[in-house]
Amino acid sequence: MSETGGHDDRRGHEGLRSLTEILTRGFDPKLSLGSARPAVFRSSTYVFSSPEAAERAFDLVSGRAQPNAGEYPDLIYSRFNHPNAEILEDQLVPLEQGSTAALVFNSGMAAIMTALMVYAKPGQAIVYTVPIYGGTQHLIQDFLQPLGIRGVPCPAGQTEAIARAIESTPELAIVLLETPANPTILMTDIRHAAEAAHARRPRPMVMVDNTLMGPAFQHPLKIGADFCLYSATKYLSGFSDMIGGAVMAAEEANMQPIRSKRGLFGNILQPDECWILDGRLPTVALRMNRASKNAQHIAERLTQHAAVERVHYPTLFSDEQQRQIYTKQCDYPGAMLSLELAGGKPAAFEFLRSLKIARNAVSLGGVETLACHPKTTTHSGFSEEEFRSAGVTDALVRLSIGIEDWRDLLADFEQALDKALQLAQPAGVGAAAARK
Ligand SMILES: *Cc1c(COP(=O)(O)O)cnc(C)c1O
Repeated sequence: MSETGGHDDRRGHEGLRSLTEILTRGFDPKLSLGSARPAVFRSSTYVFSSPEAAERAFDLVSGRAQPNAGEYPDLIYSRFNHPNAEILEDQLVPLEQGSTAALVFNSGMAAIMTALMVYAKPGQAIVYTVPIYGGTQHLIQDFLQPLGIRGVPCPAGQTEAIARAIESTPELAIVLLETPANPTILMTDIRHAAEAAHARRPRPMVMVDNTLMGPAFQHPLKIGADFCLYSATKYLSGFSDMIGGAVMAAEEANMQPIRSKRGLFGNILQPDECWILDGRLPTVALRMNRASKNAQHIAERLTQHAAVERVHYPTLFSDEQQRQIYTKQCDYPGAMLSLELAGGKPAAFEFLRSLKIARNAVSLGGVETLACHPKTTTHSGFSEEEFRSAGVTDALVRLSIGIEDWRDLLADFEQALDKALQLAQPAGVGAAAARK
């Protein structure tokens, strides 16, 4: 497992393992004048090989006909499809264990919106875990609900309560899980929720926002999910320099309606962005493994600092059920962690202000380390009740650990924690004495 970074050892469709397939699938240099890496095809429209081929391509893109095995229809217009999206999608498939198809979008929210709008109709319901990404919560509560699609929030990690909601919600169309939950790293049992969904007729679609642990460390499609949703802005691209999204499906047939609506909405990822993201895929596992190892060293050591009341991180779970979910569901603990500081909001702000390597910014999953205060930024739209039930306190700071040398990061966090502690205990408590 450590050799391949949580990667599947099974052979893909050409007998190759996934880490090889990411570099070899989907791209034929002969189609790009022999260039060893893909070219960028920026054309908005494509010249048909014949009027008959144009007719066939339109029959296929509109869903009036189904493609024959091995058929490559002519490209039409780049809102529907373009070569760089095709190359990228072919190379995403081996990254996600259990997937057969990928679609790329111009943001994570575009991917989530399109998947939800295709599979939930007015009069139907979506059961979703909370806390969930703020944009997703906004989409469900303030956009889909007024259209008559009911959102049923369920506390993340509550295995039995989630199963009961799945069993009992009328007209249930979608189960949407986000695990681990941000920012407290609370884990939800995907297999258990999927089994509850599979027992219903008609069967609701199970979707997992796998942005925080996937695709290297958590594989929802292998344990019953129908779709993985991604903000490719995070670990997939990994350098905090582009916005993108992806949907991965266990079954190609389930992807067709999403592909068709993407063509209609016009939210396909543009060729240049596809090309950039494509170049990042071969290193996703390397980056995530390094960041996860860094985070584990740092999380475990920060528990010893006097300014830290609690560290939220999978290897430090004290709850037995959470430990079990983590052990069976994830290959590695990942690179997101949160600290609860002694001294509340002033200490949290002093910590952020004092960081010299880590930067005070939202977002996550980049090679550089970022830190933020969820209560006043990413989660600031929550009600008091939502803050309380999600465990988002004044004292909480969230860290997205990058691939720097972890010893430098640890020293940076410790010096910033010393400053936060001086604020909480101004009566001459020195930094060294403050270490527990
Ligand atoms: C960032 C994020 C999103 C939204 O993705 P964008 O690329 O910003 O649209 C959705 N879900 C999770 C878990 C995220 O972290």
